[in-house]
Parts: sequence; structure tokens; C-alpha cells
Amino acid sequence: MTKHKDKIGFIGLGAMGSRMAINLINDGFEVTVYDIRAEATKLLLSKGAKTAKNPREVSENSDIVILSLPSPSEVIDAVMGKNGILEGLKEGGIIIDTSTIDPHSTKKIAKTAKEKGIGMIDAPVSGGTFGAEKGTLSIMVGGEEKILNACMDTLKVIGKNIYHVGEIGSGQVFKLINNMLVGINLIAVSEALVLAQKAGANLNTLYEVIKTSAGNSWAFEIKVPSMLKKEFQPGFKIWLQHKDLGLAMDMASSYGVPAPLLAYSYEIFKSAKALGLEDLDHSAIIRFAEKISEIEI
Ligand code: NAD
Repeated sequence: MTKHKDKIGFIGLGAMGSRMAINLINDGFEVTVYDIRAEATKLLLSKGAKTAKNPREVSENSDIVILSLPSPSEVIDAVMGKNGILEGLKEGGIIIDTSTIDPHSTKKIAKTAKEKGIGMIDAPVSGGTFGAEKGTLSIMVGGEEKILNACMDTLKVIGKNIYHVGEIGSGQVFKLINNMLVGINLIAVSEALVLAQKAGANLNTLYEVIKTSAGNSWAFEIKVPSMLKKEFQPGFKIWLQHKDLGLAMDMASSYGVPAPLLAYSYEIFKSAKALGLEDLDHSAIIRFAEKISEIEI
């Protein structure tokens, strides 16, 4: 039995979206889903979701539609394309985009939606698949306060820390800055581990010591254990990390801001993709550091 008045649509049922959608179903929301992969919708069907054959059909049955799609082109297509959300969602409906895309596309989509009486917030998330599963994600919201308040009950199911960071598109600015830092830090960690190995350090001891020292970071504390165990199941895939560094580069160029470390990190993640690592977790960037130094940790 549904306990909430808002009906939710969910588009994009991958590593993040599937877990967020399941939490909404478990919390008593009526949820209608769509993904281009049949196996993804099948899983959600087994958890109690209704399925639809395109974003328009999802939206016809929803008050709020949530997106968790890979990159700007899929979000633009799902909202504004043929059989898209704007063809199905009623006036007064709300779009919540939890995907990581660029602020410029977000503003463009929100403007078109507003012309049809549909509200939108950008609400990119952080906390990984673990946070998505536990409903503890951090959510960086850009958009009008009244729209955020209207979907607060929904957001509270998928995340724990909900930050209203500014006007539409601001959530994406915060998220791209976050992922720029994560990408750069992961490369720093990989380079450091390879050198430490060559210099004869015990890497397990090194982990314990650095964790409580000034060199610690989220990338070090959370990702070194999987690097040491060579466990690279995603998680957050290398190609998605590369995509976000690219979006951050576009943002830097649009403001004329030099960002040499960002550019370098973008190229390193591109090289990792060329090595065939694209579908592994972003911590597999250690493999690139190992390869160029011919040192295996
Ligand atoms: P994913 O590749 O696991 O999932 C994406 C899903 O979208 C897939 O199920 C895919 O089939 C579906 N899809 C692709 N194109 C589609 C379309 N046109 N219509 C409908 N469905 C389509 O990716 P993910 O890791 O779940 O990431 C989703 C978004 O969240 C990305 O923008 C990513 O950058 C962001 N994100 C990911 C993480 C993470 O840890 N994985 C964390 C924070 C944010």
C-alpha cells in the first residue's frame, strides 16, 4: 500500500538509480520506472515498481520524476526529446535531476520546463553506491526554494544531508568541483602508493599511519583498501570520473580559469580508458600508475 501522495517516476536504474528507486518503494512511494536496459527494469518490477516504455509514459503516471542518467545528452533527450518527460508531465509537476551533468545544460532544460509550468531542481549526489543503498547520500540542490520544499519528503528518502546551494545549476557546480577534487586526489594517492612500494614501505602500515596524518583524504582513506586488495568492482566507473573531469574542464574554460591539474587528471583518466579500464571503479586508476612505473603494489 502506498503511504505518500506524490507518485514518483524514476529514469535511469544503474548503480545509483536502482538503489535510490528501491529505497523509495520501500518507503511506500508508488514508483514508475524506465531504463533502456530491460534487465534493470525487471529488477525494479520484482521490487514492486510499475514499468513504462519511455520517459513520457513514466511522467504521465507521476507527480515528480527523478533522473539518474550518465551524462548531459541522455538527460536532455529524456526530458526534451521525443516521448520525453515534457510530453507527459502535468503542469505543476517537478523534475529532480540527480545525474552529474553541466550547469549550462541544467539551466537550459529548467528554462524549457518552466515554460510548460514544470519545476526543476538539479540535485546531484555524493556518497557512492553505499550511500545510495543506505539512503545517506549528500544532495547538492540548485533551484527555487519552493520547488525544493515541495519535494523534500522524496529527497529525504534518498539522502541524509540535503544542501540548498543556490539557483538552478548551482548543484552541478558544487558536484563538479567535488569530483574534480576526487579525480585529482585519486591520482595523487596512486602515484604515492607506487613510490612507497618501490621505497620498501609496508603499504598496510602506511595506510594506518597516513589515515591519521596530514596526507589523508577521502580518496586515500576510502579507496586505498580496494587498491591494496585489487578489488575494482564499481562503484563509480572510470569513464564516469573522466566524464566529470571533462565537464569540470568545460566549466573552467567557460570562465577562462586555468586549471592545469584538472587538465592533467582528465588526460590521465583518458589514458586509463584507453588501457581498457573504463568500466572498473575509479580506484583502478592505480593500474595506470603501476603501468607507467612498471611497479606493482
Ligand atoms: P550507471 O551507468 O550504472 O547507470 C546509468 C543507467 O542509465 C544505466 O542503467 C543505463 O542503462 C541507463 N541509461 C542510459 N541511457 C539511458 C536513456 N537514454 N534512457 C534511460 N536510461 C538510460 O551509472 P551510475 O553510476 O548509476 O551513475 C548515474 C549518474 O549518477 C551519473 O551521472 C553519475 O556521474 C552520477 N553519480 C554516480 C555515482 C556512483 O558512485 N556511481 C555517485 C554520484 C553520482
